[in-house]
Amino acid sequence: MSTPLTAIYPGSFDPVTNGHLDIIGRARVLFDRVIVAVLVNAEKHPMFSCAERVEILRNVTRLWDNVEVDTFDGLLVHYAVARKARVVLRAIRAVTDYDYEFQMALMNRRMQPDIETIFMVPGEAYSYLSSSLVKEVCELGGSVNSLVPPLVESLLHEKIGRDKPS
Ligand code: ADP
Repeated sequence: MSTPLTAIYPGSFDPVTNGHLDIIGRARVLFDRVIVAVLVNAEKHPMFSCAERVEILRNVTRLWDNVEVDTFDGLLVHYAVARKARVVLRAIRAVTDYDYEFQMALMNRRMQPDIETIFMVPGEAYSYLSSSLVKEVCELGGSVNSLVPPLVESLLHEKIGRDKPS
């Protein structure tokens, strides 16, 4: 039997959006296992704690049995080796993502030549969507309905302390 092909989808997921879920949903039919890995990053000031982000991700991916949610710290390639993953999955939404992702992919390959970065493209409805934009819109009282799962929408309103826009 061949070794199961595991892909790691790393990110901040602060919070997970329907764009992230679109990628996870596409990836889970291509790979035997997808590990969604939440970066424990002390430099950023996240709206949701790492534990909250993991809990939300586990909840919204619970029906996908080959999707696992985990956290990682330090170098992604070290984590990938530890998890026996051959693939790092990233999404390119628009050309603005490209430069940074290209540099990261080449740096990761330099450090760990056996690990391949694969880029996926989300559905066009999600190409303008980012976690930070969602938080900003919500903070300013706009609706994020259909941009994030319903659980995330209510948690955002709880955090921000605003009622849902009608
Ligand atoms: P990071 O801080 O690592 O960019 P994000 O949570 O913002 O963390 O993104 C994690 C991954 O998900 C990245 O590959 C990013 O390009 C991708 N991503 C972010 N927003 C979307 C979206 N709307 N649709 C598809 N993929 C997305």
